[in-house]
Amino acid sequence: MTSLKPINPDNSADHFETSALRRFEQGVGEVGALEKSDGAARYRYVAPLVTDASCLVCHAQQGYAVGGIQGGIAVTLEADKPLLKIRQAQVFIVLAGSAVILLVIASIWFISRLFIRDLQQAQEALTRLATTDFLTGLANRMTGIQTLTQELARTARGKAPLSIALMDLDHFKRVNDTYGHNAGDEILKGFAAIVRQKIRTYDTACRYGGEEFLLIMPQTSLQEAVNVVNRVFDFLRSKPLPTTAGEIKVSISAGVVRAQDGEGVDQCIERADKLLYQAKNDGRGRVYG
Ligand code: GH3
Ligand code: MG
Ligand code: MG
Repeated sequence: MTSLKPINPDNSADHFETSALRRFEQGVGEVGALEKSDGAARYRYVAPLVTDASCLVCHAQQGYAVGGIQGGIAVTLEADKPLLKIRQAQVFIVLAGSAVILLVIASIWFISRLFIRDLQQAQEALTRLATTDFLTGLANRMTGIQTLTQELARTARGKAPLSIALMDLDHFKRVNDTYGHNAGDEILKGFAAIVRQKIRTYDTACRYGGEEFLLIMPQTSLQEAVNVVNRVFDFLRSKPLPTTAGEIKVSISAGVVRAQDGEGVDQCIERADKLLYQAKNDGRGRVYG
């Protein structure tokens, strides 16, 4: 119990209680606040003590009137432990919230990575389909022409030679007619594998037509290019190709040219084609360059 005019001096209001009792006089209902002193926290609370009729039995002679505020009920609670608990709860909420946010971000990142990976794989598959010959796995005609266009432009800027070769399987119609179309396909695949083995890493082999193949050989003189084609030619001469219809010996005819200054794709291929035509006319199984 606390009062500004206490009957018992033990009930004298301290600084906080005095301020609360004054505020009650101004109409404030109750007063509570956290106080810190000597490193300890305390919660102070004061509620007004309002006079009612029963109080007048003892206090009427002291001038008390019903409804008047003669003092207050003051409560002080140790607040260190509850404050610590509140702080721990706050830390927990912040940590748990951060963990949830991190989990959500990590999930979004992981799912988007999966999507991006699938998209990249689909894109790579599409690019492969668009640029590769389905049967042989070599570059297709469009890619071959694009590569030759780029290499011709590069050669025009520098001094390094560029050579190309057109190779055509001899009497392939006869092979198909004799052994069947499937065996013909197997030969095309086997031939492509040999070409891949015999060219250098910076050469490009493409399936230019049905049984016609274009080799693009950057930084290669005419003689070096003829040598590359002869490696394929000699291999075919030494070994028949295995197929499900048995081993089949095939030969090629080829025209090899070195690109000339300012020459375009069509002109360059046309010169190689002319040599190929000549090789065919001269009896096939020849490399002309
Ligand atoms: P040449 O020595 O004059 O080149 O005679 P050839 O029989 O090879 O030439 P021709 O142009 O008369 O015939 C080419 C044959 O290649 C005809 C066609 O059936 C065959 N061919 C083209 N593409 C494919 C294919 O993808 N698979 C198979 N099995 N055969 C093919
Ligand atoms: Mg042919
Ligand atoms: Mg042909």
